[in-house]
Amino acid sequence: MSLRAPKGTDDILPPHSRVWRRLLSTWESMAEAYGYDLIMVPFFESTEVFNRGVGESTEVVQKQMYTFEDKKGRSLTLRPEGTAGVVRAFIQAGAQGVMKVAYSGAMFRYEQPQAGRRRQFYQVGLEYLGTDAADADAEVIELGYRYLTATGVPDVTVQLNSLGDDECRPTYIEALRAWLEERRGLLCQDSLRTLEMNPMRVLDCKVCAGVVADAPSPIDYLCEACQTHLSEVRSRLDSAGVPYRLAPRLVRGLDYYTRTAFEYVGSALDAAQTAVGGGGRYDGLAELLGGPPVPGVGLALGVDRIALSVPDAVDPALDVFVVNTDRYRAEARALLSTLRATGIRSDGLPDQRSLKAQFKAADRRGAVAVIVVGDEWESGQVVAKRLDDGSQVVIGSEEIVTWLKSL
Ligand code: AMP
Repeated sequence: MSLRAPKGTDDILPPHSRVWRRLLSTWESMAEAYGYDLIMVPFFESTEVFNRGVGESTEVVQKQMYTFEDKKGRSLTLRPEGTAGVVRAFIQAGAQGVMKVAYSGAMFRYEQPQAGRRRQFYQVGLEYLGTDAADADAEVIELGYRYLTATGVPDVTVQLNSLGDDECRPTYIEALRAWLEERRGLLCQDSLRTLEMNPMRVLDCKVCAGVVADAPSPIDYLCEACQTHLSEVRSRLDSAGVPYRLAPRLVRGLDYYTRTAFEYVGSALDAAQTAVGGGGRYDGLAELLGGPPVPGVGLALGVDRIALSVPDAVDPALDVFVVNTDRYRAEARALLSTLRATGIRSDGLPDQRSLKAQFKAADRRGAVAVIVVGDEWESGQVVAKRLDDGSQVVIGSEEIVTWLKSL
């Protein structure tokens, strides 16, 4: 029997992986442009990090974690999300000042796999730690929105809510609990269980969506400070030209959010998986993890879902494919080195094949143009051919770069 990748995991192979490379490199450059440094944290943590950081009442912790014991009997968990590990790292490093960091990488959740819902999936994300200013929330939301738009996700909308803070949330939770208690008979088993631990979770339940459509919203219970914070976030978004809609029942699947919660919804996916990403503010998280109070806000975007939402046709993977002839193999190799040194994406076959086979390879590799190093080389020239319309010219070898750039 041949071996296969585990259920719910994917091999991301060329040519489709070109979309992924573009998504990841666009992420790197945009995060850098907004002033986010790179952070890399372990793919597994003590299970406690997620139990406390994501929240015992969440579906992620209750049902979806890949938890195992190592050889010394320590309980470890493959990260189901990025934020708890990043905040753990910030605390461990001394939790000084402000830290703006971006990451990308695999996350693991034991889910029922389907398109856009995988057991190993990829997120790009960022965290802005050490400030509770509304500017930070708006900046994070703006960057996610600009990224999704730049990568071609159609019809991105931002849904925005505020979940309140320690001051006003308890009153809201009690009002919500009372409202839900009156409707116990209509709730599913899972919701009845989460109702005890965290009634807000019930708003997240897909099965009970119809029942909770008119449930009280945290937005109606905000204290003055939370109201001001929300209106500041809104006015920053307005001035940045980021469109959003208030979504009073948006609570998000993780327990740690305070105040701002948001989600990005695209139109290209099935109804069940319309969210391509989301995030929010988590001012209480650092303390849950045993650290000092550190306010923070962040987001995570699902690259698998983004890749499903954007057109698969991407830019060619190669600028030029160098075709060699028997006599001029060494020259063709040297030309490849020169082109690569100038940053031109170039390749050729490593062995001697027919011209036909080499042109076929150029096509398959998605090259824009082919350079043939043949007899013209004696007079310092090459044949340069565009693959889109088949037109060709004979040019001096020193003109190749200019010619390629003109395409
Ligand atoms: P969350 O951490 O649950 O807020 O997820 C943030 C984003 O990650 C979601 O909007 C999805 O795009 C993506 N995501 C979450 N879980 C999965 C999964 N199992 N498979 C694929 N993408 C996921």
